[in-house]
Amino acid sequence: MTSDTPAPDLTPDPAAHPLAAYGWDADWAAVFAPYESEGLIPGRVARVDRGRCEVVVAAGAVGAPGTDGAADAATADPSGGAVTVRADTRPARTGGDPDAVVCTGDWAAVDPGAGSGPVVRALLPRRTRFLRSTPSARSEGQVLAANIDQAVVVVSLAVELDLGRLERFLSLAWSSGSQPLVALTKTDLVPDSTHLVADVRAAAPGARVLPVSAVTGNGIDALAAELAGGTAALLGQSGVGKSTLVNALLGAEVQARGEVRGSDGKGRHTTTARELLPLPGGGLIVDTPGLRGVGLWEADSGLSQVFAEIEELAVRCRFHDCEHHAEPGCAVLAAVADGTLSHRRFESYRKLLRESAWIASRTDARLRAELSREWRRREAAGREMYERKRGGGHRKAF
Ligand code: GDP
Ligand code: ZN
Repeated sequence: MTSDTPAPDLTPDPAAHPLAAYGWDADWAAVFAPYESEGLIPGRVARVDRGRCEVVVAAGAVGAPGTDGAADAATADPSGGAVTVRADTRPARTGGDPDAVVCTGDWAAVDPGAGSGPVVRALLPRRTRFLRSTPSARSEGQVLAANIDQAVVVVSLAVELDLGRLERFLSLAWSSGSQPLVALTKTDLVPDSTHLVADVRAAAPGARVLPVSAVTGNGIDALAAELAGGTAALLGQSGVGKSTLVNALLGAEVQARGEVRGSDGKGRHTTTARELLPLPGGGLIVDTPGLRGVGLWEADSGLSQVFAEIEELAVRCRFHDCEHHAEPGCAVLAAVADGTLSHRRFESYRKLLRESAWIASRTDARLRAELSREWRRREAAGREMYERKRGGGHRKAF
């Protein structure tokens, strides 16, 4: 690395570029060329917060303003040639175009911004992108992560294999444009995983399948080698071992995972976790809350199988888009009222529906506010109906 070069290294050899460890290559350099002539510098987005983001740029490319945390970041960088700076994102006048909103993993053309601090002026076209599964036309932040080369679908061998779920994750990965890879975790908990691995291989054509254990360390090196060449993201249900795997891959760098200390505009000290993590053996992992939730909102499409009897009842609701809250002619509420459907099961169904919608909306404050208003309204309406029924003397023990 050219760490003794103070100015940004704009030599034609992309491997010598200070951002090579962050995925910079000849193709990005070619796409970036027009911006370079405008005096902009390339940077990779490591985290996005409201209106601002953290961008990894070549050390020395950006002046003092806005470089809070740069010193901390520099110590975390394997090559020593890159620093993390805070930058303003462009005004989000996007006309609903999700590809115009900055997200973690993006390559950006950054204006070093002499006095006012760095500003993201443009995004390089994304090679791959993970889209939220429940798009709403009016919400921004639909893209959860960009430029993920490999999607690691994490599956635990400690619980019964659900190949249907694995297939849903694989299809999510393929549709993002990235190459899926399956990591089968907790192999230390199964005496012989040969058949399980074979079943998974059969269900995952075109994807490598690697058994790993964070406890024994088996397979971790093989996985690290697979990930060394690009940017990876981990997908999978909660509890399958994603965090443990990220920590195992980061190894001694685990402390570096983090914390970018800086201060916000009001002089308060802030600590945020970076979401773009360089691996010691090469490659990067993107770990964002939005992608972590993917397991739950993905489960959305599985709800109809899990609650088949409720879906069957719903066919008889008066309104085809009935949400079984307080609608007249609701067959589901009627079944709850006459005891055919247990109240517990109905509540658990609603809870899961709500959870998946909640997680999908988590990165979007506006949608979230709308949803919580809507839920409060519905809860009140539902409670009123419930009370009315009870008041009518038909008290039911659910
Ligand atoms: P996540 O929700 O997918 O991030 O899962 P976690 O990484 O938090 O792991 C869930 C649980 O599984 C934790 O109690 C871990 O200690 C455990 N775990 C993770 N990987 C392994 C493994 O390879 N072997 C065993 N035995 N336990 C593991
Ligand atoms: Zn209904």
